[in-house]
Amino acid sequence: MKHIVIIGGGTGGTLAANRLRRHFAEEEVVIDVVDGNDDHLYQPGLLFIPFGILNHEDIVRSRTAQLHEGIRMHIDTVDHIDPHSHRVVLGGGSSLPYDACVIASGSVLLPQATEGLLGPGWMESVFTFYDPVGATALARSLGAFQHGRIVIDIADMPIKCPVAPLEFTFLADWYFHEKGVRDDVSITFATPLSGAFTKPVCSTSLGHLLEEKHVELVPDFLCSSVDEDRHIIASYDGRELPYDLAVVVPIHEGAPFVGRTEGLGDALNFVKVDPATLQSTSYPDIFAIGDAADIPASKAGSVAHFEGEVLVRNVDAVLRGVAPSAAFDGHVNCFVETGFGKALLIDYNYDQEPVPGHFPSALGLPLMKESRMNHVAKLLFQWFYWHGLLPGREIPGIPDAMPLSGKQLVGAVQERVPAGTRRKEH
Ligand SMILES: Cc1cc2nc3c(=O)[nH]c(=O)nc-3n(C[C@H](O)[C@H](O)[C@H](O)COP(=O)(O)OP(=O)(O)OC[C@H]3O[C@@H](n4cnc5c(N)ncnc54)[C@H](O)[C@@H]3O)c2cc1C
Repeated sequence: MKHIVIIGGGTGGTLAANRLRRHFAEEEVVIDVVDGNDDHLYQPGLLFIPFGILNHEDIVRSRTAQLHEGIRMHIDTVDHIDPHSHRVVLGGGSSLPYDACVIASGSVLLPQATEGLLGPGWMESVFTFYDPVGATALARSLGAFQHGRIVIDIADMPIKCPVAPLEFTFLADWYFHEKGVRDDVSITFATPLSGAFTKPVCSTSLGHLLEEKHVELVPDFLCSSVDEDRHIIASYDGRELPYDLAVVVPIHEGAPFVGRTEGLGDALNFVKVDPATLQSTSYPDIFAIGDAADIPASKAGSVAHFEGEVLVRNVDAVLRGVAPSAAFDGHVNCFVETGFGKALLIDYNYDQEPVPGHFPSALGLPLMKESRMNHVAKLLFQWFYWHGLLPGREIPGIPDAMPLSGKQLVGAVQERVPAGTRRKEH
């Protein structure tokens, strides 16, 4: 009997467990999933909570209920991995043996890592929508906001769903229009990137959209501290942004247990893996899926979905004593809400920038162009998340590798851009 231990029962861990359960017979392979709690959060839904479109209870379900029969769920916290005895050590001191271990522990938010962020204004005039408590408190504050300056700030990269802060900005523009007070509210988007997004071509078109919506873009702004008495966000190069209401996306890191496991992680506790095979560069029987991996792709649920089959084939190879050969191409697919019932869609991979065209083929959804169809598809995505993505189903007509058909590739920039710009020394 072989054992697979999956650390984390979020997007990547759940779909990996379900796919692996379908792949291996129960008599051959035991599958254990470990997570610290039983609340599975549909994180893309957090975007809509501040605007009163969704509530916390609309986007949370039992983790255990998302797992197929024949998967053992442990509500516990992983303390570290002992790669030499091939055991995952839990918080209480007990441990689970593995022949293959899949790390799907995502990323953690570190608001405490930014000086002053957790000061007297936290949850009063400074919020994040990246967790349910912050998103819910922000809904109350936005509801009462009639005039003044809102600053949306990405503290540092990498973050999960790098388009979500932009979507928040577009939705804020729409929300205050609807309330009839948009002329009395100024909106500023501050980012450590040199433009609106990580990918140059897309960054330019999203930058134009910010301009059209009269949002001030402040690039190259690496947040050093927040002074909540003076209502100022400061950058390392000495600039200061005054705010009446600030929405900050905190610094992200990998799970702390990665740092407690010798040789497993990088300086930010993301797991060092081969970007194609997802296999740890230190331990051949360990893999990472989703946000936990240090690959140069966006941290997004779509990435975990497209990685799923590669992971199953490579875990299978390791259990058979063969070198993994299935390769992930870095495929990312993201709907970007732009407000007023519209969204645009971007699709790219390690080597190919987002380009205009259609997805997944010439007759599909428009790429890099606002449309109502994309907005409807974004709203329908929650249904697909619970009923297709988490159960580990393929989407008919949508391959895991990025499709080239329908894309306007001529003249597109094909350079590879690293996903993170994080400067650790800060
Ligand atoms: C506001 C917002 C909007 C987003 N919008 C989109 C979108 O539109 N499209 C998209 O594709 N993606 C989106 N994302 C990103 C997406 O939600 C994540 O990329 C995805 O959930 C990553 O899956 P994961 O399994 O790697 O991590 P998670 O789903 O975060 O799961 C990690 C799990 O590991 C567990 N864990 C961590 N440490 C331990 C430990 N020591 N012991 C036990 N368990 C542990 C955690 O409890 C957690 O359940 C969004 C995210 C946010 C915050």
